[in-house]
Amino acid sequence: MGVSTLKDIVDRAFAERYGVPAINIVNDLTMEAVLAGAVEARSPVIVQTSVKTVKSIGSSVLFAMWESMTAGIEVPVALHLDHCPDRDVITECLEQGWNSVLFDASVLPVEENQRQTIEVVKQAREFGAHVEGEIEAITGVEDGIGSHEEAARQTLEVSLRFIEATGVDVFAPAIGNAHGVYKREPVLDFQRVTDIIDAHPIPIALHGGSGLTDAQFSDLIARGCAKVNISTALKITYMKSNLDYLKDAEARDKWDPPALFSHVRGDIVAMTRSLAEQFGSAGRA
Ligand SMILES: [Zn+2]
Repeated sequence: MGVSTLKDIVDRAFAERYGVPAINIVNDLTMEAVLAGAVEARSPVIVQTSVKTVKSIGSSVLFAMWESMTAGIEVPVALHLDHCPDRDVITECLEQGWNSVLFDASVLPVEENQRQTIEVVKQAREFGAHVEGEIEAITGVEDGIGSHEEAARQTLEVSLRFIEATGVDVFAPAIGNAHGVYKREPVLDFQRVTDIIDAHPIPIALHGGSGLTDAQFSDLIARGCAKVNISTALKITYMKSNLDYLKDAEARDKWDPPALFSHVRGDIVAMTRSLAEQFGSAGRA
């Protein structure tokens, strides 16, 4: 229990076919509330930081928050760097103590992506850390990274060669999923997840989780999506919770910051608990 590794957390979820919420936090309040929600749900959780969050708060402050907030925690947790194309930021976070990174070289030709991912895996291992890999950009821009154009999907052979050559611990294929808010229900390539896992059993990361239907989540998690990324839903919950409270504060002309924080925290805790229930990770820790 306590701070674990990405591999331990997702390997068990993959074997038992549940999904672990991997939630992008944006500040101290959301980090603490996501951890508290996981403890309440008795669920493992992966706390993720975008490169933008690392740059806005600073890796040493973020890591100090993580260490103090997870001291003595009773559920398995890991700190993960989400979509990072910048090798220097990867090095910085591994040196601080992040448990895992997503090296996002999806804009590079797949051969060059593979060559560099091999280096990142070797580097991560020196820190006892793990790596998520991807060869196609997930559609949509998140925290300044990505493109609105849908990337061409690589063949099964290319995907398998990448997984086997690099030794990544988690693989994130594009399956019609997208970052941000879906304007219509996405058409997902469920079979692609099964084809990859049948050929090479590896926990799959599902990106663009905010806004998928219950049925889509259950199907993908049953196939082997063991890490379910949630970023947009936290941003929306966080901003709307603040807005609702502030509108009410304005109406009442009462201005008490700790009451605002406590209101927002409650909503993020509830969101985390509800994701753990939905993905089947609640009660597993
Ligand atoms: Zn993503």
